[in-house]
Amino acid sequence: MPSSTPHSRPVLVGLIGAAIQQSKSPALHEAESQAMGLTLSYRLIDLKTVGPDGQGLSKALEQVEHEGFAGVNITHPYKQLVIPLLDNLSDQAAMIGAVNTVVFKNGKRWGYNTDEWGFRENFRRQMADVSLNSVVQIGAGGAGAATAHALLTLGVKWLQIADADLVRSQALANKLAVRFPGARISATPSVDTALASADGVVNATPMGMADHPGLPFDAGLLRPDLWVADIVYFPLETELLSRARRLGAKTLDGGGMAVFQAAKAFELFTGIAPDQERMLRYFLSLPQGAEN
Ligand code: NAD
Repeated sequence: MPSSTPHSRPVLVGLIGAAIQQSKSPALHEAESQAMGLTLSYRLIDLKTVGPDGQGLSKALEQVEHEGFAGVNITHPYKQLVIPLLDNLSDQAAMIGAVNTVVFKNGKRWGYNTDEWGFRENFRRQMADVSLNSVVQIGAGGAGAATAHALLTLGVKWLQIADADLVRSQALANKLAVRFPGARISATPSVDTALASADGVVNATPMGMADHPGLPFDAGLLRPDLWVADIVYFPLETELLSRARRLGAKTLDGGGMAVFQAAKAFELFTGIAPDQERMLRYFLSLPQGAEN
């Protein structure tokens, strides 16, 4: 729970991932802690030379725990690999099957998924008036599991999930159906058919990122009355969003999710709730650079 007592000792936190040198997380966490009068150091632990075998990850976790870190964020490609190395998982992290925040507490490692919370918070703030009767989500990877869970928590009645890998979308739909028995949840092989009856669509694929240019589906399927949310945030204005906006559709970019997932992690690390608005303003003032 948030506390109003600032930490007297510097708080050590970081990010474990591969090829993360461009990450905005150090700037985001350190600027907020500075504004709050906290001394916090956010380090990058880049395992790109080790490879995604889990061994380097295990050593890195031991090392940071030994050095007295309060916790670490975990990113690609370790969000699933980290799970067997933890003692406890939050409900959401267990359901989603991915962890992006690890907290070291009382000699135990606790795993959380703040991506889910970040997407929900961003959506709740900016899309409160949209219809949630029928929503299509493209992408059933790690982030897609988090956004689908968030959408159902927000009250989506019918969620259709599409992924280039149908086995993945089917597995996610099956898992969610157990957790949300009151909702209709299906995997769909046809984005065209699914979108025809949808109120909104969420892009949870990397399509639209600077290094994955393009759209996750045919732009001709966009309509003025189809709201569009994208979780890609480099760039903030993806081609999907810009085309939807030009048609007059309501849109949501991935920047807020990135900030709010960081804000929740900050709170888990420090026990203090940060000023989310200030974090958002700071994020938007940064040159658009990279992920995390
Ligand atoms: P991932 O690789 O785990 O999953 C991506 C999924 O998309 C895969 O299942 C793949 O088969 C599917 N896919 C790719 N192209 C497709 C297409 N054209 N049509 C249908 N399916 C397609 O990746 P991830 O970790 O889930 O991340 C996805 C994106 O979300 C990345 O761009 C990542 O940067 C972004 N993300 C944003 C935030 C945020 O805070 N805004 C947080 C996490 C991830």
